[in-house]
Amino acid sequence: MRTRFRGVTVREGVLLEGPAGWGEWSPFLEYDAAVAEPWLRCAEEAAAGDWPAPVRASVPVNVTVPAVDAERAHAIVRAGGCATAKVKVAEPGQTLADDQARVEAVRDALGPAGRVRIDVNGLWSTDEALARLPVLDRAAGGLEYVEQPCATVEELAAVRRAVGVPVAADESIRRAADPYRVRDLEAADVAVLKVQPLGGVRACLRIAEDIGLPVVVSSALESSIGLAAGVALAAALPELPYACGLATAQLLAADTTTEPLLPVAGEIAVRVPALDPGHPVAAPDRVAHWEARLAEVRALREGRLP
Ligand SMILES: [Mg+2]
Repeated sequence: MRTRFRGVTVREGVLLEGPAGWGEWSPFLEYDAAVAEPWLRCAEEAAAGDWPAPVRASVPVNVTVPAVDAERAHAIVRAGGCATAKVKVAEPGQTLADDQARVEAVRDALGPAGRVRIDVNGLWSTDEALARLPVLDRAAGGLEYVEQPCATVEELAAVRRAVGVPVAADESIRRAADPYRVRDLEAADVAVLKVQPLGGVRACLRIAEDIGLPVVVSSALESSIGLAAGVALAAALPELPYACGLATAQLLAADTTTEPLLPVAGEIAVRVPALDPGHPVAAPDRVAHWEARLAEVRALREGRLP
């Protein structure tokens, strides 16, 4: 990683080759075999070339603004070239005034036609959400939505009932059953879906159809070969009313391709990047680590693990 992002400084994963090319399997290091299994299905689907046909040639994406000061936030949005900005708020050690100044700067940088969403990463209580959302909604001149204002699905539902700002569920959707719970509790207006944790492009397409909520496709900090699966989902969704969180290749200091999936004028072109033959090979101990993880997931599938 160029800088630390959600506590991660080094991003690791495996590329699997199949008849159609490469798939990326990059579950985070702390995930056990059961959690990492759907991530592997996503890689296998990609390597098999089993993706639905795209209905669009490019996918709009958002620029992400970390919890930086207003001046820096303004510069990031201007450099990003996107019409939608996602602003991180509720950073521990910062105040509501810090968030307000950052959101105001982002609106100023985007202009009146841009869209501003905020991401709380589940860090507010419901009381904090109810007190702070109107302030940040005003600072933004109208928020597109608030992502994961509180930690639990029940809290999201309570916030959604009490405020006029649309709510998006992100961390509340980690396993295949989660989107259905979000829908059943009427906890969100928007579902953030990531292809690896939910078992691949077709699995996500089915979920999107079942839950009947607009979807924002987001990355799990994949390399461009893994990002291509998220782009394939965003390209295949019948409706795509919101910009996606797939502009994350630039967070990596190195990529698996020489043609990274980076946005141009706020959009990522729908394509599958080729593997860079000169891609650096991992150290032997990391290869052994990933071979052991892969063997564990396969053992789990075959019922050889409890
Ligand atoms: Mg989020």
